[in-house]
Amino acid sequence: MTFSSFSLDKILLKNLDTLEYEKATEIQQQAIPLILANNDVMARAKTGTGKTAAFALPILSKIVAVPNCQKSVSALVLAPTRELVQQIHKSFIKYGKGTEVQVTAVYGGVSINPQISSLKAGTDVLIATPGRLLDLIFNKHIDLSTLSTLVFDEADRMLDLGFKAEIERIMACVPESRQTLLFSATFDDSLYKLSKTLLKHPKTVTINESNVVAETVEQLVYAVDLDRKRELLSYLIGSKNWQQVLIFTRTKQTADALAKEMCKDGIKTQSLHGDKSQGARDKALAEFKSGKVRALVATDVAARGIDIVDLPYVVNYELPYVAEDYVHRIGRTGRAGKSGLALSLVSVKEEWLLTAIEKVIDERLLQQWLPGYEPDLTKVEPAKRGISKQKARKQALDKNNPRKRRRR
Ligand code: AMP
Repeated sequence: MTFSSFSLDKILLKNLDTLEYEKATEIQQQAIPLILANNDVMARAKTGTGKTAAFALPILSKIVAVPNCQKSVSALVLAPTRELVQQIHKSFIKYGKGTEVQVTAVYGGVSINPQISSLKAGTDVLIATPGRLLDLIFNKHIDLSTLSTLVFDEADRMLDLGFKAEIERIMACVPESRQTLLFSATFDDSLYKLSKTLLKHPKTVTINESNVVAETVEQLVYAVDLDRKRELLSYLIGSKNWQQVLIFTRTKQTADALAKEMCKDGIKTQSLHGDKSQGARDKALAEFKSGKVRALVATDVAARGIDIVDLPYVVNYELPYVAEDYVHRIGRTGRAGKSGLALSLVSVKEEWLLTAIEKVIDERLLQQWLPGYEPDLTKVEPAKRGISKQKARKQALDKNNPRKRRRR
């Protein structure tokens, strides 16, 4: 289906032509007509499906159709991380090029003053992280009384990051009569419960590919002792001359420690996570994109903002506690028909996580031993007693979540 079959503004259609978007993706085909017809929409879609254009195009088109002379906020997009806010902002700018629509991004971790100045000039679309948005609302720099469309992007991550209270406070500042759109890669009970308070008679949109790994991705699993993972990884990167390697860890601490050790191994590596300043994160990403830095170690949340089309190597240094994250992680490679390699380093204690992943992707992942790095089966630690795997997973997720840590 081409974009000209939707009643989108002509300037937007021209921009899509320039961007060489020939066909609407599945989520775009389903969501654009529903949004243009002012429905509330609940959509299950992850990054990489074209979901940003699925909501940005109808929002922009509606604003162009009814120009807003006061430049008061007409659409608000809430996203969990600064990187995602920046990425959505960039998308709105490229899709709305040549229109009069003003788009502003606000997020924490940087000075608030330039954001206040740009808000003073007026804006039609505001893209924001919840915390910074609340600061701006309570200091009266933003008025949301004219809002007509509210979007939640990556709503599951917002709940994972403990933004529920912030969302509730924001809801008290937006008009009752509005269109609400909720995008999420996953839906669990708590998200369904929240969605009932946010959306009215929503139309649901689901696309089928959620847990499918692209055929262009080769999945390789090495069984290795935990304390030899770094050594093995540095060896592979060095001996096989891998460039642009995105490495995932579960925690910020492991990301930092690993990046430091890999630098000592002679591999230029940076870490990327939520405790770093915005400047440091932007720099790390730019250097990784340009090839100045060879490996980037990221946590799942930080990696959501990385939009590199043809990343050749993804490494799971630690397997994710949420099995679906494996699909997100390795979906960073093998895009647009290019081939990619997804390597997972699995210690004996992580085998239950591998089993969970196999169930989600409905595929058996054979563990291999790399000569010289075979696991030492004599030093397997006994499993901890008295604590379930679910509890261990929850504790680890909470430990890595600054908001939950603060609340305890
Ligand atoms: P998203 O899921 O919104 O993060 O989009 C993923 C990538 O797909 C971005 O780089 C978009 O520019 C690109 N994209 C979105 N829609 C289309 C389309 N219809 N045709 C080609 N590329 C697209």
